[in-house]
Amino acid sequence: MATIIPFLYEKREEKAVYFTSLLKHMKILVATEKPFAREAVEGIRQIVEQAGQELALLEKYTEKAELLAAVADADALIVRSDKVTAEVIEAAKQLKIVVRAGAGYDNVDLQAATQRGVVVMNTPGQNSNAVAELALGMMLYMARNRFTPGTGSELQGKTLAIHAYGNVGKLVAKKGKALGMRVVAYDPFITDAYVYDNDGVEKVDSVEELYAMADYLSLHIPSNAETKASIGYEKLISMPKGATLVNTARKEVIDEEGLVAAMTEREDLKYVTDIAPTNAAEMEERFGKRFFATPKKQGAETAEANINAGLAAARQVIDYLLNGNTRFQVNK
Ligand code: NAD
Repeated sequence: MATIIPFLYEKREEKAVYFTSLLKHMKILVATEKPFAREAVEGIRQIVEQAGQELALLEKYTEKAELLAAVADADALIVRSDKVTAEVIEAAKQLKIVVRAGAGYDNVDLQAATQRGVVVMNTPGQNSNAVAELALGMMLYMARNRFTPGTGSELQGKTLAIHAYGNVGKLVAKKGKALGMRVVAYDPFITDAYVYDNDGVEKVDSVEELYAMADYLSLHIPSNAETKASIGYEKLISMPKGATLVNTARKEVIDEEGLVAAMTEREDLKYVTDIAPTNAAEMEERFGKRFFATPKKQGAETAEANINAGLAAARQVIDYLLNGNTRFQVNK
């Protein structure tokens, strides 16, 4: 056997994974500081064990050292928002695949993984509905003065602008339409007008135009080198009177200084977010009811999303280890 494996590695890595899997149980580690729901864990166990592999659990860990020890002999790693740094990848000598159960994968060091030949995947679409419902809920909450006495406003008839028309953006658009909103969207990577027409959504050709027409701007861009701190003063100041920025994406995409400057200059602007900014205390003090951050990120925190993403992650791990399927790989 010793001679076969290196030969296969030379030829084709996926095949090597496949043949290795025939020789021993693979250890699939689920490492979650914030664990999956029990039902999700049981489902993951079933998928892993039915495939003849072994499940290991590291839940509610508090020290990095615990994660480093647990990954040492793991062939696959499933995480939620847990940080998979270069150090973690280095410690995981057997690691072949990391699956981030969720959409954003900015918690995984892609470069380190790629260098080591470790496949990284996310589970797109599995928690999108949960996030989209939260975005709409946050809009209603802000429109009604955060459920405090006083005259609020309605979403019907307002313009809902979707920044990035991916899995979550599309669902927010659909729900906004159901509430009678005019829905417009901008996504530089989805240029086919048919996609928008088909959903009854107006395609906007520039980001500047998008912000200038947004009563509600719902953010769905990923956090990456291009988008970091890209939403700031210029865009916010151009928004119509009484506009609300809704962020269920990532805190890093906001230029916090620019946001504070725009909200200081414009006493009508509102910001609601699922990811508390670094300067949350300052914002709360300065902007009162015009600012709200969920106490803990909860976009994907529904039982349904939890189960969907967890099970999808387990299926993807098995499908890669046994069949070499790289469909959801993000570091190709
Ligand atoms: P997705 O990958 O389906 O869609 C992302 C979209 O962004 C794509 O359509 C892509 O074309 C577009 N895009 C990429 N770069 C862009 C840019 N520079 N400008 C404009 N558009 C750009 O992802 P999704 O499932 O819709 O999730 C969107 C984001 O929401 C994730 O990246 C993640 O950060 C965040 N998220 C948050 C939670 C939460 O708990 N609050 C849960 C899930 C996802």
